[in-house]
Amino acid sequence: MALLFALVIDPVASDDRRETYSATFTAVDPDGPVLPLGELSAQRGDGVFESIGVVDGHPQEVGPHLERLAHSARLVDLPAPNPEQWREAIARVAAEAGEEELVIKLILSRGVEQGSSPTAWITLATAPDNVVARTDGVGVVTLDRGYQLDVPGRAPWLLLGAKTLSYAVNMAAIREAKRRGADDAVFVTSDGYVLEAPTASVILRFGDRFVTPEPNAGILHGTTQLSLFAYLDRRGFATAYEAVLLSDLRTADAAWLLSSVRLAAPISAVDGVEKAVDRALTDELNAYLLSPRN
Ligand code: PLP
Repeated sequence: MALLFALVIDPVASDDRRETYSATFTAVDPDGPVLPLGELSAQRGDGVFESIGVVDGHPQEVGPHLERLAHSARLVDLPAPNPEQWREAIARVAAEAGEEELVIKLILSRGVEQGSSPTAWITLATAPDNVVARTDGVGVVTLDRGYQLDVPGRAPWLLLGAKTLSYAVNMAAIREAKRRGADDAVFVTSDGYVLEAPTASVILRFGDRFVTPEPNAGILHGTTQLSLFAYLDRRGFATAYEAVLLSDLRTADAAWLLSSVRLAAPISAVDGVEKAVDRALTDELNAYLLSPRN
């Protein structure tokens, strides 16, 4: 992904109301040196982020992404981001977008070691070509996440529901999946429940019913999954949050990985066993996901 544009934001408190926040934004060279070496996002992955899909210049689901950014900030004890400031910054960055699919990334970091305030910035970047994943699908392997389903409640300091910058484990899981000849991974608890993919939510279809793992079970609540469930509800399908067993992933009529940039990628194989891809429904879901959404 090539960076196209970047803004550094001077975060202001959420009760700071202004007509415009543009004076708190500084456009920077996206390829230039911007962050000091003491930046804790770089040193410790100590910060939170969001990736927003941009289609035809329209940033998708800004409200839900800002809500999740605030949720993640709360979980890691960072000051609440000011939603109006971030909304204005997103609009400023999106104004640089052309017609191709792009990605806006929001980053809120603990800041510089021994500094007094968080640092924040937004980037606009090209998106990978996701056509093959959206049509032919992705083969997944299931990987043990190494803890049981009840761990998030017992150990909240693991930050399992926060979208932190510490994605080294997630990236390692994708590399392991590739080593095993698959395209992506699905994390499973050590007691056999499906969680999520390293960068996507999982949904399953059983007849006219769609299910996804409960978001309080230590996974991110996907903005794409939320939006798609609302669409499926309108289409007359039943949708539910449930504890999903590994056997459910194997027996479901169909399954998808959902995320803001790749959108709906049908799962075409689980641990080497092929799974039917519903092309027509997948095309319909992606057409919806590519339409302007707020
Ligand atoms: N789960 C994880 C771990 C993710 O990293 C992501 C997205 O990056 C998702 C789920 C899907 O979230 P969204 O649909 O908001 O992109």
